[in-house]
Amino acid sequence: MKNIVVIGAGTMGNGIAHVFAMKGFNVRLVDISEAALEKALATISKNLDRMVAKERITTEDKAATLDHIKTFTSINDATEGADLVVEAATENVDLKLKIFKQIDEAAPANAILATNTSSISITKIAAVTSRPEKVIGMHFMNPVPVMKLIEVIRGYSTTDEVTSTIMELSKTLGKVPVEVNDYPGFVANRILIPMINEAIYTLFEGVAGVEEIDTVMKLGMAHPMGPLQLADFIGLDVCLAICNVLYDGFGKSQYAPCPLLVNMVTAGKLGRKSGEGFYKYIKGSKDIVVASTFQK
Ligand code: NAD
Repeated sequence: MKNIVVIGAGTMGNGIAHVFAMKGFNVRLVDISEAALEKALATISKNLDRMVAKERITTEDKAATLDHIKTFTSINDATEGADLVVEAATENVDLKLKIFKQIDEAAPANAILATNTSSISITKIAAVTSRPEKVIGMHFMNPVPVMKLIEVIRGYSTTDEVTSTIMELSKTLGKVPVEVNDYPGFVANRILIPMINEAIYTLFEGVAGVEEIDTVMKLGMAHPMGPLQLADFIGLDVCLAICNVLYDGFGKSQYAPCPLLVNMVTAGKLGRKSGEGFYKYIKGSKDIVVASTFQK
């Protein structure tokens, strides 16, 4: 494995590019938006600066890492000679199916095609390609350079060989891979998202306020972040999309998204990335306050 293509340069794509480039892989980062690519490079540079400041890497390591990342706006150009494609574009099933048809046609026949989807069926994505045995889930956690876990998801047709290649590659990145099967939400989001949705219901029903709910889970369960703050961090649109996958996949009312979550996404209150969710985020400041809608 040498040439890695990362599709989508948003929250996850820039982190995935960062960790591959740090280990000396040639990374081609693709996005339809030039602005997203510029922002991704700036974010990677800032995150590397932080590592330099902590003396975990040298300035030379930083320069070498950035040198390993090239940006593209065309999937076809980027996938030439690729060994592995990791798709991390927007969580939308139609978009992912379209992207996988395109990368299947453009990438070399031996390339492994991975997706960082949080919840969409790997088997469904694999079915639109001519190489379902080489399609796999590689679910990184946010923030990618910090979080150790990679959930490696086997689709219905994924071979043992492809799975073990991705398990080994994940270890090369300094991560801990865990192999799971392809059912809605896999393991991480099957458990996490219903908890977040329940926290939103708890707020919606007036059981407690934003800070109270988060404090109970932080201090009571030793979670580093409360579920509402975590939802803001993940992105409320992403949380809603996963909720809908669980609801459609299992057909059980327990997975129905809370109407408050649906309203907030419709109103464009997507959490940290839009500046407001359950909390308000001020650009350039680490301080967060409960959004005015939820202040008592
Ligand atoms: P994001 O919205 O931050 O970024 C998505 C990027 O994809 C955008 O820059 C967008 O321009 C780009 N894009 C859209 N269509 C494209 C196309 N046709 N070709 C190339 N680029 C395209 O989203 P994100 O939070 O980084 O999520 C990306 C994926 O990672 C999703 O599948 C999501 O479910 C998954 N994921 C997210 C998190 C999280 O905490 N945010 C965690 C794990 C997995």
